[in-house]
Amino acid sequence: MTNNTTKPPLNMVNVVIFVGFPIAALILVPFWGMYQGYDSFQWLWALAFLYLNGMSITGGYHRLWAHKSYEASPALKWFFAFWGAGALQNSILIWASDHRRHHRDVDDNELDPYSAGRGLWFSHIGWMLREYNTNDPDFSNVRDLQRDPIVKWQDKHYVALTTFMNLGLPLLLGIWHGDIIGTVLLVGLLRLVVNHHVTFFINSLAHYWGSRPYTESNSARDNGFLAFLTYGEGYHNYHHIFQSDYRNGIRWWQWDPTKWMIALCARAGLASELKRVSNFKVQRAILDTTFDRARTKLEGAMHSESLSEMLEREYQLFTESINQWTALQAGRYERTKGQLSDALYEHKQHLHQKWEVAALVNKLKTLEYGLKMQRKRLTLLMEQVHFHQAQMA
Ligand SMILES: [Zn+2]
Ligand SMILES: [Zn+2]
Repeated sequence: MTNNTTKPPLNMVNVVIFVGFPIAALILVPFWGMYQGYDSFQWLWALAFLYLNGMSITGGYHRLWAHKSYEASPALKWFFAFWGAGALQNSILIWASDHRRHHRDVDDNELDPYSAGRGLWFSHIGWMLREYNTNDPDFSNVRDLQRDPIVKWQDKHYVALTTFMNLGLPLLLGIWHGDIIGTVLLVGLLRLVVNHHVTFFINSLAHYWGSRPYTESNSARDNGFLAFLTYGEGYHNYHHIFQSDYRNGIRWWQWDPTKWMIALCARAGLASELKRVSNFKVQRAILDTTFDRARTKLEGAMHSESLSEMLEREYQLFTESINQWTALQAGRYERTKGQLSDALYEHKQHLHQKWEVAALVNKLKTLEYGLKMQRKRLTLLMEQVHFHQAQMA
């Protein structure tokens, strides 16, 4: 009997890949290890493949194609197209289409193909095992990528490409090394399974576990430990609010090898137009979230009037800073435009304009600093709220 709770049919190809391969790896890899053993050549190549595949997904599929957070030269695109196919996560076109839907309708169980609202298992791997209608191909959101000849070519030859990268290359490596089975097991199978799961952590764990400093409007979390496993993609709360930024971990010390790779490629002339969100906007997002959180805490709970008043005063200051910043940015834009059309202005005029621009930049910097200070005051204020609430309890 069929009813509404009947699950859609299994996708057998995906079941083999996502259930069969891990089971095979769990049995065969240790078995061969005990029987024959592995050497450092095989381990090192497995690690190299892991990073080449993983970072072609994060730097290529994700940040370049799905989000257009920078421009890449054809050589770099080809590199990502090959090694990304080796990650066995579908073609760029399908991957990016799913991912753009994930961002647009995040947490929507009907529209987000790997909505975290449907549970940890579903968002990790379950969504691929059955023919859910959220997986129906709809390329209306990747028209730009359909015009990219490299993306088109990769999509057309995807099966041959991924077979060559996953089986052909490890096989050749094994022939060269003299141990075909061991090399295929480690560089082919184990590496593939590990890369699958660490990439899937971004859809599952990074929507459950971690902090939400930039926005609470969706389930995405920042998690330094996951960033370490996921080539830098663990700063997922930041990524969901500022998806066009080529970085996910924006502080210099945050582990984000993908952002370092992109920056390095830019230095080598392989990447350009790296997009970054301004520091002010980042501070603004953090403050917005902190204000929301503070208000919710104060609401309902017994609290002193003076704390609420202080919070509202701070909020007013915050709004004023935002307005000033917006006005100054608009002014800066106007001035730059003016500078372009008045290129033949006399030297004196030019110097004057330069000075004005410098003064503007200074003002913007001061505003930015103001927000930083406000964040500190707000933290103190929240500590007072906690203290007050503890006393009332
Ligand atoms: Zn996400
Ligand atoms: Zn994304």
